[in-house]
Amino acid sequence: MSFILVTGGAGYIGSHVVKELLQKGYQPIVYDNLDTGHREAVREAPLIEGDLADGEKLRETFQTYSIKAVIHFAASCLVEESVEHPLKYFKNNLSNSIQLLEVMEEFQVNQIVFSSSAAVYGEPLEIPISEEHPSAPTNPYGETKWMFEQILQRSSKAGRVRYISLRYFNAAGADPEGDLGEDHSPETHLIPLVLRAAFFGKPISIFGTDYDTPDGTCIRDYIHVTDLAHGHLLALQRLESGRDSGIYNLGNGKGFSVREVIQVAERVTGEKINILESPRRPGDPSCLIASSEKIRKELGWRPRYPELERMIQTAWNWHRSQFKAMSRMPD
Ligand code: UDP
Repeated sequence: MSFILVTGGAGYIGSHVVKELLQKGYQPIVYDNLDTGHREAVREAPLIEGDLADGEKLRETFQTYSIKAVIHFAASCLVEESVEHPLKYFKNNLSNSIQLLEVMEEFQVNQIVFSSSAAVYGEPLEIPISEEHPSAPTNPYGETKWMFEQILQRSSKAGRVRYISLRYFNAAGADPEGDLGEDHSPETHLIPLVLRAAFFGKPISIFGTDYDTPDGTCIRDYIHVTDLAHGHLLALQRLESGRDSGIYNLGNGKGFSVREVIQVAERVTGEKINILESPRRPGDPSCLIASSEKIRKELGWRPRYPELERMIQTAWNWHRSQFKAMSRMPD
C-alpha cells in the first residue's frame, strides 16, 4: 500500500485535505507536531506526532510507510510573529523543509505539493495578480514561502523532484458537513474573529479605514477551504500523471472589503456586530485579488463554494457549535 505523507495535516487546511484524500480513496498519513494542529482533526488517518526538525523521526516514518508523494503544510504562519521572530520562521519553514526534501531524496520520493501563499507577491503592482507578477514579499513569512519555491524550482531543474506550489489567497469557511473548521490559538484571522464578535457580543477591530479602496478597508480574495483542498487533489493527480512541475494561484478572483465581510456575517448570523475602527496593521497590502486562470485552465480547478455567504455560513455552523461549549470568549 502507498501512502501520501501530509505534513501539518492536523491543521486547518491540512485536515480538510486529509478528509478529501480519504474520500477519494488515498491513504494519507499525517506528520504533525501538534503545536497548532489538533489530534481529532486527522480522523482515521495515521498520525505521527513529530517535528520536521527531528530528522530521525522523519526517516523512521519514511522507513515504516511506503510513501509515494508528500503534501507539505507544516509551517509557522503568523505574519506579525515572523517580523518579530524571523529566525523561527527561517528555521521552521525553510531549514525544516529542506530537511524534508533531503529525506524524500534519500527514500526516492520525488513528488511534492507545497503550501505557498499570496504573501510571496508583497504589495501588488496590478490586480488581479497572476503567477507572473513579480515577487517581493514584505515579511519573513512570505520570504520563506518564496525562498522554498526557489529551492523547489532548482531541485526540479536538477531532476531531483517534481512539485506543484499552490499560492493561496485567504482561506475561509469550514467543512460543509461540519466535521472540521478553523481553530487557531491565538486567532488572528478576520472571519473567525468576526464570528466570535457576533456570538459573544464583543466588538471587532477593523485594522485601517483609510485605505485607497471604495470603503477605506482592505480587500481580500476569500476561497473556501474545501475548494482549496480540492486544488491539492488536482495537483497531486497532475504529479502522479507525470506532468510538469508548476506554480498556481488559488483564489476566486473576487475581492471583499473588511466591512463587506462584516455585513455578510451580520446577515448569516442574524446578529448586529459592533466595530472598533482601529489603526492599520503593519504590512497589510490594501488589496489582494487572484487570477486563478492558470489552475482553471491547466488543472481544471473550479470552485464549488465561491460565494462569500456560503463560506461564512459553513464557518458559522462550525464555530457556533464550538462556542456553545465555551463559557467565555476564547483569547
Ligand atoms: N482584519 C481586521 N481585523 C481583524 C483581523 C483582520 O480588520 O481583527 C483585516 C486585516 O487587516 C486584513 C483582512 O482583515 O485586511 C484579512 O486579514 P486576515 O488576518 O484574515 O488574513 P490576511 O489577509 O492577513 O492573510
